Amino acid sequence: EVYEKVEQVGEGTYGQVYKARDKETGQFVALKRVRMDNEKEGFPVTAIREIKILKVLNHKNVVQLKEIVTSKASEYNHGKGSIYMVMEFSDHDLTGLTDAGTRFTTPQIKCYMKQLLEGLAYCHKNRVLHRDIKGSNLLINNEGQLKLADFGLARPFDDSGRQLTNRVITLWYRPPELLLGSQNYGPAVDMWSVGCIFAELLLRKPILPGRNEFEQIDLIFKTFGTPTEQTWPGLTKLHYYSMVSTQSQQQYGNKPHPSRFQEKFGMLDKRAQELLNALLAMDPAKRITAKAALDHDYFWEAPFPAKPEELPKYPQCHEFTAKKRRQDAAKAPPAQQQQFAQPAQQHPVSQGFAQIGRASCRERV
Ligand code: ADP
Repeated sequence: EVYEKVEQVGEGTYGQVYKARDKETGQFVALKRVRMDNEKEGFPVTAIREIKILKVLNHKNVVQLKEIVTSKASEYNHGKGSIYMVMEFSDHDLTGLTDAGTRFTTPQIKCYMKQLLEGLAYCHKNRVLHRDIKGSNLLINNEGQLKLADFGLARPFDDSGRQLTNRVITLWYRPPELLLGSQNYGPAVDMWSVGCIFAELLLRKPILPGRNEFEQIDLIFKTFGTPTEQTWPGLTKLHYYSMVSTQSQQQYGNKPHPSRFQEKFGMLDKRAQELLNALLAMDPAKRITAKAALDHDYFWEAPFPAKPEELPKYPQCHEFTAKKRRQDAAKAPPAQQQQFAQPAQQHPVSQGFAQIGRASCRERV
C-alpha cells in the first residue's frame, strides 16, 4: 500500500526488481521481490544473508536497504503474499549502459573505478566478501554515483581458515584460485573481478568470455601465461590443479602458454596497464587490495578522475531493459530492426551460457 510499482527493471535469480514510487513522498525506490515459489525450507538463505549484510553496511558506494515490506496475498503471488526489499533506486547498471553502446571517457572510467574500489575497500574493511562483482551488479545513478548491489552471494569472512564454497562469482569474472578449487580465500577474489571490469571498461568488451570452467581457466592461462609453483607458491596443491594441468597437457602438450598481456593491453596508457596487471595478478597473495589500488598513480595523474556530479546523465537503462529491447528488436520486422542500436558486446547473462555458471553458484551457496 505504501509503494506503487512503475515498471520492472530487473530479473534476478532470486526474484524480480521493480522501480516503484513512494505514494507519500513521490520518491522512487527499487523493490526487490524475494522469490519464495521454489522454497521448501521457508525464507531463502540468500535473502537472509543479503538483508543481514546490507543492514550493517552504510556507505555512499553500497546500495542502501531502506526497509522490508510485505504485500497482501493476490493472484500474482499465488495467494501467498510477497516480501520485498526496499532499496534506493538507481537509474542504470553498468552493463545496461555499456550494452546501450555508451562510450566512456578516461576521467569517467577513473571516476567509476574509484567509486567501485571505495565501495569494496569499505566492504573488505568490514569483513564482507561480495563474491559476485560484475557490471549488472554495479548500479549508477544520474548523479554519477556508483553503488555495489546484489549481496545475495556475499558473506562475512574472518581468519579462521574455515572452508568456503568455490562455486561463487559469475564465470567471466571468477578468479583462477576459485576455478582451481580453492576453499580458503579472501578479498582478493573480488579484486580479480574488479580487474575484469576495468579491462572491459578500457577495451569495451569482456576480456575472458569462457563457456565453461575449463575454458575459463584455459583463457586465463592463455592471456596471462601458465603459472608455475615458482610464480604462484601453493598452486600445485590446489584441489583441481592436477585435473586442469592434465587436461591442458592433453590439449597442448608440455608447452606452457606465454603471457600475452603486452599484445592484449600494450596499447593502453602505462598507468592503466600497471593497475590492470596488479588487479589481475594470478597469485591472490600478490593481487593488489582495494585500499592500495586507490593509492595507485593511475588515479593521481592527469587526466584525473571526473567528479561524479560532472558525469553525463543518460536515459534510464538496466541490463534487463537493454536485453528486452534487443529481443524486441530481433522480433521486429527487418525495416524496424535498423532503428535499434547494436550492443558493443553481449554480456554473460544475456548470452545464456554464462547464466549456467551463475545459476550453479546460487544452488550451492
Ligand atoms: P538477483 O540477486 O536476484 O540477481 P539483483 O540484486 O542482481 O537481483 O538485481 C537484478 C537487477 O535489478 C540488477 O542487475 C539491476 O539492473 C536491477 N536493480 C537491482 N537493484 C536495483 C536498485 N536499487 N535500483 C535500480 N535497479 C536495481
